[in-house]
Parts: sequence; C-alpha cells; structure tokens
Amino acid sequence: MRLETLAIHAGGEADAATGALAPPIHFATTFRHGPAGERLAGYEYQREGDPTNDRLRAAITALEGAETALTFASGMAAIAALLETLGGGTRILVPQDCYTGLRVLAAEFLPERGIEVITVDMTDLATVRNACHGGIGLIWAETPSNPLLAVSDIAALAAIAHEHDALLVCDNTFASPVLQQPLALGADVVMHSTTKYFGGHSDVLGGALAFARADALFARVAHRLHVTGATLAPFSAWLTLRGCRSLPARMAMHCANARQVAAFLSAQPQVARVHYPGLDTHPGHATATRQMRDFGGMLSIELRGGRDAALALAGALRLFTNATSLGGCESLVEHRASVEGERPVSPQALLRLSVGLEHAEDLIDDLRQGLDAI
Ligand code: PLP
Repeated sequence: MRLETLAIHAGGEADAATGALAPPIHFATTFRHGPAGERLAGYEYQREGDPTNDRLRAAITALEGAETALTFASGMAAIAALLETLGGGTRILVPQDCYTGLRVLAAEFLPERGIEVITVDMTDLATVRNACHGGIGLIWAETPSNPLLAVSDIAALAAIAHEHDALLVCDNTFASPVLQQPLALGADVVMHSTTKYFGGHSDVLGGALAFARADALFARVAHRLHVTGATLAPFSAWLTLRGCRSLPARMAMHCANARQVAAFLSAQPQVARVHYPGLDTHPGHATATRQMRDFGGMLSIELRGGRDAALALAGALRLFTNATSLGGCESLVEHRASVEGERPVSPQALLRLSVGLEHAEDLIDDLRQGLDAI
C-alpha cells in the first residue's frame, strides 16, 4: 500500500467491542490480569504499553517502513532512551548543525557516562570517514537539519556506519516519513519529535523511534522506556494518531507554501541567504532531490542587516508568530540565537521559519510588509 493509504488506515481498525471507527482512548493505568500475573489481553500497566499507543506505534511502523516502533513522552525522551543504551567508551558522531536539545545532551550528559562525542559536518563525507578511524559506535544524522537545513546523504552515511559495525540513526523530524524514509536508505533507527509534523497542530508533545529490525537494540530501548517511564500518555497518542491521518495532505501544502516563500525571499535585497533544500542554489539540493520526495515546510534566512534586522523583521511580522517549535498549521518565526541559551550557535542574522498552511500569498504579503518595515 502507498503511504497516503497507510496514513489513513495503519493502526486504524474499527474498535472490536463497539465498531467505533475513531479509536477509543484507554486511560486505564492498570489492566486486569490472571492470578499469576497472566496478561489477559496483552496489557498490564500503562507505563509498559496501552492500546492507544499500540495503534500509534503501528501507524509509525507502517509509515517509516519499519519492523517496529516505540513512542515516547517527547522527542528528547526518545533520543535519550536510545543513547542510554550505549556503553561507556563508545565513540559517536553527531552533526555540527542539529537541534539544541541533542547538542546539550551530547555536550553535558553523554561525556558523564564515558561516551566520546565527535561533532562533524555530516554533509562532508570525507570528514565523516576520517572521524570514524579508531572505531565508532553510532552516527547520528539530522536531515534536513535544524536550523540550517543542511542535507546529509543518508545512504552514504549508512554505508560508512555499517563498514564500522556502527548504527546510523536519523532524526527525520523536518522531513516526516512522507518526504523521506531513512530506513529504506539504510538507516537503522529513525527518530521523530512527533510534537512537530505528526501532531501537526501544536497541541501535543511526543517522540518516536522506528526500528529497521525488531532486534536486541529495540528490546533494550523498549526495556529502558518501560522501566524509566518516559511513556506517551494515551490522549497524546490519540492526538498524534489523528495527526497521522492528515500528514501526507498537510506535508504537500507545507511544501508548496515553503517553496513559494523561499522563492520570494531569495529575491529580496534585505535577505543575504535562504536555506531551503528546494532551491537549486542550496548545497544539498542534489542529495535532497535524490532522497526526498519534496523539500519540506522549514526554511531559514539570514538578513543582510545582521541581528538587528533579524529581530526587527521577527517583530514586524503579523501572520508568522514569534514562537518556538515547528510543523503546526500556523506559520512561526524564531530568532534561534535568542533562545539557544548561554552559548548560542546559530548565526545572529538568522531567522527560522516554519511555513504553515495559510495561503502562500498571505504569507508572502506578510513577509513583504515586514521587510519593508525594517
Ligand atoms: N529533533 C528536532 C529536529 C527538533 O526540532 C526537536 C524539537 O524541536 C527535537 C528533536 C526534540 O523534540 P521534543 O521537543 O519533542 O522533545
């Protein structure tokens, strides 16, 4: 079945008890079991799984072409659970440009556990290969990356990782499985902040891991999740599952709008650079064209006038709301350097845009009036 069909039907069987088409939400924290703890219907305690989360897991498994998936209370919980399975002494590669949370985790928490983190430009395969000399346990890719929209070559990274018996994990949050399926390109695990495009309405936090194989790694991560308890609440699972149904349709419009916004911004004299993989001037355009169905709804721009111009534009926009996060129906703008804590890494001139589902012309009108005002 094709992705659009899976998005509607995976994990969507009618409720066996009532025939209800919308999935029931089971809020129960505990499920009746037999006198010797026998699981009578497959469930025991909500931290270890519930029917609503299982439906969402089935949907994510199908959409990513995985063997199995796990859901988490947030994207960061998913990242942490996976990285917690690494033993002391493991060397891992993380991308120069990536979500701040991973950067902080890699800088502060992983070294405490004896994990050696090497930060590399993941778009530069020669650098990646060099960094693997001396052994490597895991390569973490995020493509397109947050916030610079850097595109790394998933198939090439998978080949490098596997030459070293290492895992390739790919954060697929920006693309969603609609635009990119890293497991089909050789990745071992796909990670999502389902808070973003999966949820789609800026009203539910969540994370997921989709595994190429239901193997020992999956079992170890599942065990950690069940013991440490970063479980996704059933209502959050239900909202995220509902988001899956419209994910392909929303992604198509996010992409169409972002393409128009990127083209408009590229032609504006106040804008020094537009980072959007759909532009043929983007250094990752060829790779993106090969591994993505379309280029997504995220882009970032750098203003010629530096930080002052970026803040002035962010302040002048009316339809793009100043807010963090991304992937919702509404367009957002964010000066990343201002929200990255004590040691910001994003360029001061940079604004990140999450292009929503408003009419593209209205978004462009808003950007035009904002640029005129600065
Ligand atoms: N990965 C990417 C690319 C993100 O943008 C984010 C959040 O913005 C995360 C991971 C973390 O996800 P969450 O905020 O759901 O914990």
